[in-house]
Amino acid sequence: MGNTNLAAILASSDSLSGSRQFFDLVLSSSPDVVFVKDSEFRIVMANPAFLSLYPEDMRDKVIGFTTLEEYDEAQAEEFLTHDRVAFETGESSTIETIDFPDGKRRVLSTKKIRFEQGDGSQYIVGIGRDITDIVAGQEALAVSEERYELAVAGSAAGIWDWDLTTNNVFWSDRIKRQLGLAGDNGTMGIAEFIARYHPDDEERLAEKLRAHLQDREPYDVEFRAWVNGEYRWFRSCGQAVWDEHGQPKRMAGSLEDVTYHINAQEKLAQSMERLDEFAHIASHDLREPLRGIGSLVEFVKEDYGDTLPSDAVEQLDRITELKKRADTLVAELLQYSQLAHSEKRTDTVDLNALVAEAIRILPRDASHSVDVVSLLPTIVCEPVAIRQLFQNLITNGLKYNESANKRIEIGVIANDEDDPSSNETFFVKDNGIGIATKDQDKVFKIFQRLHGKTAFGGGTGAGLTFVKRIIERHNGTIWIESEPDEGSTFFFTLDAQR
Ligand code: ADP
Repeated sequence: MGNTNLAAILASSDSLSGSRQFFDLVLSSSPDVVFVKDSEFRIVMANPAFLSLYPEDMRDKVIGFTTLEEYDEAQAEEFLTHDRVAFETGESSTIETIDFPDGKRRVLSTKKIRFEQGDGSQYIVGIGRDITDIVAGQEALAVSEERYELAVAGSAAGIWDWDLTTNNVFWSDRIKRQLGLAGDNGTMGIAEFIARYHPDDEERLAEKLRAHLQDREPYDVEFRAWVNGEYRWFRSCGQAVWDEHGQPKRMAGSLEDVTYHINAQEKLAQSMERLDEFAHIASHDLREPLRGIGSLVEFVKEDYGDTLPSDAVEQLDRITELKKRADTLVAELLQYSQLAHSEKRTDTVDLNALVAEAIRILPRDASHSVDVVSLLPTIVCEPVAIRQLFQNLITNGLKYNESANKRIEIGVIANDEDDPSSNETFFVKDNGIGIATKDQDKVFKIFQRLHGKTAFGGGTGAGLTFVKRIIERHNGTIWIESEPDEGSTFFFTLDAQR
């Protein structure tokens, strides 16, 4: 009827308002069930909605009947009880779950009202609304709310829910505690919350929020907020809901105090830095006494070589050998610490050319083949370091290899199509001796070898540590898939910046 006033139409149209036709129209189109019972509980009138609760072949057995025999005893008794209450008190209301003769179970909210005809006979009119779907919806909601509350209670995060149309925010109790909002009444508007952000984080957070609400980018932020006299770190993830015009109307998410984790990360980073500094100073300072030892041995040999017994000369040669090994170790330690300290000099590099160069400088040997099996991308990286990385992996693949035909394959696996931000994975695969799972972490530790000092041509155990550092400098990760005697594949990622 739109804005038209129904009462006005009815008043101006006596023929319609007074007519039985109108009454019938309302009853027959009502989705609610309407019935009238006499004092013997027989149905004397029922609308189509009521009749449709009965199978078609029963519908002519409804008017004039009680239909009670169609229900089980308890159900029939319940109908009668409410009928009686209505007859006695004038009215009854009930919500009942009924197994109807059409085989369906429904929940009806029914009101019964007594009325009298001119001849004094009493009737009740019943109006029932099918609320089955509403009840089922409420039950499903209760289950999901319960599940949600359990999940939230079991995690360290609290929940917020922001109505963007009114700007009201719901904060769960855990958030209130984390934000130092005292008692049950303590609450806070969104503006008040934003005012607590650390000034250095404000702009970034505003941009993240804009990107989520407008461009629907994921919202997952870490920031500092002022709580009880100090800045604490929080992580918040959220998800908005948009209306049919694409306007965000609500956003809900989690908030967790991550100060402890951030502090631990910072401490770890600091101690790593101190370790790098130590390695840098130690390696630098060790070079001088080592040089001194070398010179002294040479002097002794030059000045007294002729007069010394031969086993003493042998001992001196042994000192020179050990000194050389110490030189190598110190040089590698220095290189390792430089990988942490030196400034990153990046360039746009075609990896096909870079890997070809790394292969070209390998010692030639007919018993081995090194092949690039896929087209490599052009990336922004530190060319010298990345070439060293490929060189180390290829050299190892040939060195720790007892196959008659040593084979190395270098390639790339495209990034995950579903996640455009994912990086491609590079690999260097060999048919060498393999590495047991338990040793796969060990090989990346500095000066760790899985073999004796001279086995497989010797080595210091620093090569893979460099490889790992170089990858970390490019924000990537490295891992191994290998089994003893089955060859090894080194997989790694590099930051996808192009
Ligand atoms: P180095 O070769 O100087 O010993 P690395 O750091 O390059 O140092 O390697 C550490 C150890 O890891 C090696 O001693 C070797 O035992 C093992 N390793 C490295 N690469 C491979 C490979 N491709 N196959 C089998 N074992 C390997």
